Amino acid sequence: MEKVVIIRYSEIHLKGKNRGYFERIFSVNLEKSLKGLRHELHRTSGRWLVEKFEEGYAEEIAGRISRVFGVHSYSVGYLTDSSLDGIYSAAKLVAPRGGSFKVDTHRGNKGYPLTSMEISAAIGGRLLSEFPGLRVDVHQPESVVYVDVRENGSALVFGSFEQGAGGMPVGVSGKGLLLISGGIDSPVAGYMMAKRGMTVELLHFHSYPYTNEGAKEKVKELAKILSRYSLVTRLTTVSVTEIQEEIHRKCAEELNVTLLRRFMFRIAERVAKEEGMQCLITGESLGQVASQTIEGMTSSNAVVTLPVLRPLVGFDKDEIIERAKKIGTFSTSILPYEDCCTVFLPDHPAIKPKLAYVESEESKLDVERLVSEAVAARESEEL
Ligand code: ATP
Ligand code: MG
Repeated sequence: MEKVVIIRYSEIHLKGKNRGYFERIFSVNLEKSLKGLRHELHRTSGRWLVEKFEEGYAEEIAGRISRVFGVHSYSVGYLTDSSLDGIYSAAKLVAPRGGSFKVDTHRGNKGYPLTSMEISAAIGGRLLSEFPGLRVDVHQPESVVYVDVRENGSALVFGSFEQGAGGMPVGVSGKGLLLISGGIDSPVAGYMMAKRGMTVELLHFHSYPYTNEGAKEKVKELAKILSRYSLVTRLTTVSVTEIQEEIHRKCAEELNVTLLRRFMFRIAERVAKEEGMQCLITGESLGQVASQTIEGMTSSNAVVTLPVLRPLVGFDKDEIIERAKKIGTFSTSILPYEDCCTVFLPDHPAIKPKLAYVESEESKLDVERLVSEAVAARESEEL
């Protein structure tokens, strides 16, 4: 008998021709999440098993598995031979010590000498005599002992189904570049696209020395948290200091933010295209701040051809915060820091900037030079 982690994936996405491809990527992602831990990962009918790990590591493994997209549910349990004695020795370990319970048996091996009902009755009976505090309730039990008799002469025994992260395996839905600030929203936006199977890389703008190193460290910390889910590996940083100074010097103050955002989008698109990414992702939500109006989004979209995905566009701040807490980025996101958008922030930013006005103010700048210099000076690091 051996402790194992049982992984089930969301079958619904795995229909038809894509199945083999999805499963391969899913396997690779599971392996990556388990990196550094001794284990064996085996694909069996309809699920994966993590076996042969060191004692005491089941919780760590389960924790990592819980963050892999495509995992529908998982269980920590035991792999044993399928004799009644084998099953019982595992059942004893997962069974509750008191309260109501039932044994729920699934029999993959139809040649097994006992039916599912008979196995449940035999194991349940033995548990009842071992633990006097137990009673059987087949309709609304407080606990369930699950027994899965497999085709190959082994059995899986476990006590619960834990909900997985859901979604699709990262890597099956193309690649996107997430514009990540140190705020609450953008990490959540990245999480959501990764959950849809997208490989997400990160791009952060800073205005050093107006913003300090702390801002960058914070983004790195957020990137690290995200990397636990989506396997993002790269963070690129670009300075927009000179661009902001130029805008501040030459253009109408009320357009500072609007113009900066157009530069951010242009730079992001260049970086994305050079690195084979297919879209940009932002944490914008309609109406949240002055620049997140439809006019503001139109003005930013006008300078790029790649699609811009805004998965939070219809969310309330409360909903975003709730997700950030669940993902684990919230407490880092709310640490104080200087975002580059707050440098040279105008007292009255234009809320509904007209595109013609934006373009005429922008024509006072050498856009191409500023963009290509910023892109050329970018720094990337593997996480
Ligand atoms: P967030 O919580 O993600 O900071 P926000 O509500 O503060 O968002 P804005 O400052 O208007 O909103 O930024 C909107 C989006 O623009 C962000 O979600 C992010 O995708 C991108 N963005 C803003 N600042 C930066 C930055 N310094 N580096 C990279 N992307 C940024
Ligand atoms: Mg912000």
